[in-house]
Amino acid sequence: MTRAKTKSEKLWKQAQRYMPGGVNSPVRAFKGVGGSPIFVERGKGSKIWDVDGKQYIDHVCSWGPLILGHADKEVIARLKKVIPQGTSFGIPTERENVLARMVIKAVPSIEKTRLVSSGTEAVMSAIRLARGYTGRSVIIKFEGCYHGHADGLLVKAGSGATTLGVPTSPGVPPEYASCTMTLPYNDIDAVAKACRKHGKKIAAIILEPIAGNMGVVPAVDGFLESLREITEKHGILLIFDEIISGFRVAYGGAQSLYKIKPDLTTLGKIIGGGLPVGAYGGRADIMDHMAPAGPVYQAGTLSGNPLAVEAGIATLEILSRPGTYKKLDRLAAKLGDGLIEAAKMMGVPSYHTRVGSMLCMFFTGAPVNSYSDALKCDTERYGKYFHAMLERGVYLAPSQFEAAFVSLAHTEKDIEKTIRAAEQSLLEIA
Ligand code: PMP
Repeated sequence: MTRAKTKSEKLWKQAQRYMPGGVNSPVRAFKGVGGSPIFVERGKGSKIWDVDGKQYIDHVCSWGPLILGHADKEVIARLKKVIPQGTSFGIPTERENVLARMVIKAVPSIEKTRLVSSGTEAVMSAIRLARGYTGRSVIIKFEGCYHGHADGLLVKAGSGATTLGVPTSPGVPPEYASCTMTLPYNDIDAVAKACRKHGKKIAAIILEPIAGNMGVVPAVDGFLESLREITEKHGILLIFDEIISGFRVAYGGAQSLYKIKPDLTTLGKIIGGGLPVGAYGGRADIMDHMAPAGPVYQAGTLSGNPLAVEAGIATLEILSRPGTYKKLDRLAAKLGDGLIEAAKMMGVPSYHTRVGSMLCMFFTGAPVNSYSDALKCDTERYGKYFHAMLERGVYLAPSQFEAAFVSLAHTEKDIEKTIRAAEQSLLEIA
């Protein structure tokens, strides 16, 4: 079957007529790796099948939410039970209390939380709250961190924005952008200097405590601690965007791993078990500034949607069982070590990062601690690697600037297969 005759190819042609760039979210279009996307038909466990019947081991996992793998039996059973009761009410439900309680119990800094419908919404709301609470306008974000597509956060953003070469989007008024100060990730001196100079104007510093949108770039030792100190000194709120790392690197997220308490945290992805969800939360005295308890407004027709909340509860219940994070870590370590070995064996310069079950192979020989380091990667080579892996039945993110994930559904055999595929692919592109 030639590529031009595949069903994916035909659907891709149609899609381009109906949707801008053929997709509903930019990175899906394969612009970062060339070629045209596969269209997926179904998923089960660690695998997905495209519309042409080809099977892939999936290391994207819907960009993070599917930490249990696709169509988890327990999650699906719970959804089937809930669907006949109604899909949306816009009236409080008991299960919203349940998910909120689970989040509060799990995430060390969260005393109160509010559910929304996407990560973008969570971050946008947290920023508004930080501004409303402090009465200040400016926020500091870090180059290469992605916090969703709200205006003012699309300034030097990572992820798809970097993949497409538009890290700062047209359509963001300069007035908005001027309220966002961007600094290099992991550069504490730059933060200290900015806060000394502008501290009284700064409402919040927001960051991914483990950056996952310029590849995976963990905070260097002491960076998060110093951020906590500096923000406290200047009355600035510290916001951890744990939309990827929350319930991923540990049940309590990066903040429990590194033992740093931010003032506010944003969550998404995993807490919706694959359905649309986001959440923000933090200190109760700050959260009580939100309407209707306080004056800062935010609302949502589908917020706390029964299906999303039920899938989230089921997912967190499974994750809270003993041994889950050990298993994720063991599988991901095996994958990470295998990839390091494969790259070494094939003589392909690479730099590898991993925290728990999120990992990245950068196609550069030099360490990657910041966005400018990440941009030095050989993205053309990544594109070739991506296609060589795809050919061999392994689905990686169609961009160098993303994380690879391992789920609880991945088996030792899957990991071995991915490593074998990587050896062959790296040999092919070396
Ligand atoms: N923050 C981070 C750290 C993310 O990774 C993402 C999505 N990849 C977002 C925010 C935005 O979330 P959503 O796509 O659900 O709007």
